[in-house]
Amino acid sequence: MYGQGILRGLKVTFQHIFESYMDDIRWNFRRYRSPEAFPERQGVAARGVFTVQYPEEKLAVPERFRFIPFLVVDNYDHPDEERRGHDWCTSCGICAKVCPPQCIWIVRGTNPETGRPVPEPEEFYIDIDICMNCGLCAEFCPFDAIKMDHDYELSSYDRTSAHIYNKQQLSKEFRYWQSIAPTTAEEEANARGGWEHKDVLKQQAKEAKARAKAEQAASDTD
Ligand code: SF4
Ligand code: SF4
Repeated sequence: MYGQGILRGLKVTFQHIFESYMDDIRWNFRRYRSPEAFPERQGVAARGVFTVQYPEEKLAVPERFRFIPFLVVDNYDHPDEERRGHDWCTSCGICAKVCPPQCIWIVRGTNPETGRPVPEPEEFYIDIDICMNCGLCAEFCPFDAIKMDHDYELSSYDRTSAHIYNKQQLSKEFRYWQSIAPTTAEEEANARGGWEHKDVLKQQAKEAKARAKAEQAASDTD
């Protein structure tokens, strides 16, 4: 019958309007203000007109969500004082090499006394306007030192120097990574053999081996 499609469309529209009012009544007209209502409106059972009141409300992002990368540093209250805020990055340069638009710049650190290179970055820059959030840097980093962030609110009034992030702007504590990607962080820790940086775990294993050897030698002498 002519006009059947229009009628079907109107039915869907009116159904959504009706369901919106039903939801308003259900939430006592606090559907957009009640914090409990928001997760429900995001759920599969949500009915009616669905509007996110951004920026007051924000959609939760999935763990695999990826935005501009950040650099992992040890927690600022790490039990070992020397590790506090220590870069996980060893300045190997792999991320800069694999980055498709070449928006990573790294300056390797040097020992001020000997002038020899040290495995940590002195400077680290990412041009966030060029970064395309592909995540390859994070995929390739052998030290789990660069991770994709969940923070997508990076707009500013200056699109020149303000969009070239330096090491300080890029660095975030390890516990931040654990909070935004708990499953991945745990998988990585299992693969590394612990929650610490690869080098720390290697050093701990070496020390444990030396201790065991010394104890064995002492018991042999007895
Ligand atoms: S790949 Fe990882 S360790 Fe190497 S320079 Fe990049 S962030 Fe640092
Ligand atoms: S996410 Fe992709 S484009 Fe952005 S810095 Fe990493 S490798 Fe480069």
